[in-house]
Amino acid sequence: LSERSPESFLGELLAAGLLALSGVDGVYGRREAFDRVSDAVDALVLRETAEDGAELIRFPPVVPRRTIEKSGYLASFPNLAGSVFGFEGTEGEAVELAARVQRQEDWSEFQTPIDLMLTPAACYPVYPWVAAAGPLPENGRLIDVQSYCFRHEPARDPARLQSFRMHENVRIGSADEVFAWKESWISRGTALLASIGLGAEKVVASDPFFGRAGRMLSVNQVEQELKFELVHPIAGEKPTAIFSVNYHQDHFGHDFGIWTREGEIAHTACFGAGLERVTLALFAKHGIDVADWPDDVRACLQLNSADGHP
Ligand code: ATP
Ligand code: ZN
Repeated sequence: LSERSPESFLGELLAAGLLALSGVDGVYGRREAFDRVSDAVDALVLRETAEDGAELIRFPPVVPRRTIEKSGYLASFPNLAGSVFGFEGTEGEAVELAARVQRQEDWSEFQTPIDLMLTPAACYPVYPWVAAAGPLPENGRLIDVQSYCFRHEPARDPARLQSFRMHENVRIGSADEVFAWKESWISRGTALLASIGLGAEKVVASDPFFGRAGRMLSVNQVEQELKFELVHPIAGEKPTAIFSVNYHQDHFGHDFGIWTREGEIAHTACFGAGLERVTLALFAKHGIDVADWPDDVRACLQLNSADGHP
């Protein structure tokens, strides 16, 4: 399995009617069987985390530019960010724009950045919302988000998408509370994946901070074990991160002004499940036809009735 290349796995998924090409690398349509499984993964994560009493909120896949500016994202990942632009010109400029499009010429000068960017991780809209509510309640907060995320990293790899969905839980509280919560996800995430037949491995990881200064941030992140991933083979030589846990310490608490009841800067951490990646890992592990998957895996994902298997 791990010997197949990402590109050949993509070919298999297209041939099997699971994905559809869009014309741009890293952006694929999910066809019915794939979509049903990825929705089942989403629901599985929700069932798991609902037990914790997480507050559910859903934001659209755009985030105020101000939020991204405040978070430091543009210093760390300028290469991954996506900005939304709009036309704010005159009628004459609109005519010129259309003419340039017609001639297949560059029309970017008629585009102005608007107040929005594409959401880079599902948790970003949470921080300003929580900050605006004032000091945290006792025991902090736990918030469940799910969103399309955008990262400008085109590749011919079904596991490296430009637009994908992330289901996250965000824990905000005291340093002790947040540290304990993120540690609990090592065994909890491993067990959750085991319940759907995925034997994932925990690895200490780092984010792809941009540039030479960024490399030092990555080293620091690894040394302090601020990020770990649960990885599973999908395609290619190395296993792929399907769950990630990020401990931001007081970074976002500081940037957005989130305080505990005791007046300390809040710590934050998030657990994130990549819905497409977990789905791909399931197809890579159990086969391209859901009907052939082990009964207990289908039962755990509640896929039984939908595919005609009682
Ligand atoms: P933040 O800390 O800002 O919340 P994050 O660091 O949690 O973001 P990642 O850890 O990079 O974000 O990603 C979380 C999960 O999203 C990963 O475990 C993976 O499953 C999925 N993911 C990340 N990048 C991609 C991608 N390019 N294509 C598909 N899935 C992805
Ligand atoms: Zn996050």
